[in-house]
Amino acid sequence: MPAAVAAAARPPMKPLDEALADLLALATPLAGTDTVDTFDADGRVLAVAAVSPLQVPPHDNSAMDGYAVRRADVAAPGAQLPVSQRIAAGSAGLPLAAGTAARIFTGAPVPPGADAIVMQEDCQALEGDRVQVHAVPAAHQWIRRAGEDIALGAEVLAAGTRLTPAALGLAASIGLARLTVARRPRVALFSTGDELVMPGEVDPARMPPGAIYNSNRFFLRGLLRRLGCAVTDLGIVPDRREATLEALRGASLEHDLILTSGGVSVGEEDHVKPAVEALGRLDLWQIAMKPGKPFAHGRIGAAHFMGLPGNPVSSFMTFALLVRPFLLRLQGMQAVAPQSVAATADFDWPRADRRREFLRVRRNAAGGLDLFPHQGSGVLTSVAWGDGVVDTPAGQTIARGDTVRFIPWAELQS
Ligand code: AMP
Ligand code: MG
Repeated sequence: MPAAVAAAARPPMKPLDEALADLLALATPLAGTDTVDTFDADGRVLAVAAVSPLQVPPHDNSAMDGYAVRRADVAAPGAQLPVSQRIAAGSAGLPLAAGTAARIFTGAPVPPGADAIVMQEDCQALEGDRVQVHAVPAAHQWIRRAGEDIALGAEVLAAGTRLTPAALGLAASIGLARLTVARRPRVALFSTGDELVMPGEVDPARMPPGAIYNSNRFFLRGLLRRLGCAVTDLGIVPDRREATLEALRGASLEHDLILTSGGVSVGEEDHVKPAVEALGRLDLWQIAMKPGKPFAHGRIGAAHFMGLPGNPVSSFMTFALLVRPFLLRLQGMQAVAPQSVAATADFDWPRADRRREFLRVRRNAAGGLDLFPHQGSGVLTSVAWGDGVVDTPAGQTIARGDTVRFIPWAELQS
């Protein structure tokens, strides 16, 4: 009997991994691609593999300023050779005559016949265009071989790769001026809550009683942009059924996802749930994560709907752990779950929670992790202060010195 009472008071929660798996199962990759200038492709997800139409480097070239020689001509230190040609980067030399050296510069093609480069520090230029070579070179010394970086026909970037500045440089190095990427997910964003006011619209000295600034709108918009989304920001929608219905109905027509924060619980002032149910369908999950917990997923027509909790840190973390992977999968990425690394806790966390907990921490100079002192779900300072979160299993405490799983912000907000 007491057990049954306890169970009724505490409805079963959904494990985070299960919630993520359920969402990803619904994330059918978007149809359609964009062809974009390589300069503008940072952060986009490649839809078609980048295959090299040439080898890189395109020819054997010198890795040093120095002299190209035939090794047979430098059998012993001190050999003297006439300098028969000069080859700078961007020009092609002639075949190297036996018994001669070529002055050569970094990046210049190695002339046919040469089989080593001697760096200029190991040589001495002599009168009458001659050079004395003080070191006997090893075979192919300081020669970057044609194709040693990329072979002709090699796939340098797989479809589904999220492009980074390094990847753009790599694509450019094989001559690709344009790239075919997944189209941008179109996301409609709105905040609910009659207490919300906008910075810039209401002066801090003139805040009405009970008002707070809308912070979620700022980080959600930034997070969405970083994920390559085209964001329609619908601002603050009042806590009224009609207004909520209208916003949802309009947004559902031309967006892949409608994302809201706040109003997703089941209180009288929470209009999002009944409004989505009136227009489509909705599942409200209690997720076993802290901060976090209430999270809604539904459909209105072809659009996905996701409702985040209003508390800023809960909103941030449910976005990072559920919405972010979903949006990346829509764009065709496979490995979307954040990766943690082992790290040492320089703090105690003596109170175990029945939910999986994400503690905001900062790396210290000793290589350990310090805990932000206030872990409340409304304390946005904790997110901006540190370097990431410790992923703590449900029911687990932490003692100073323990090895914990650390997820850097780069895995969650990039
Ligand atoms: P709700 O989920 O609507 O019950 O909101 C939970 C808490 O989060 C309340 O204290 C709200 O005032 C706060 N909250 C909701 N939306 C925002 C927002 N956009 N920015 C800052 N705080 C918010
Ligand atoms: Mg509210």
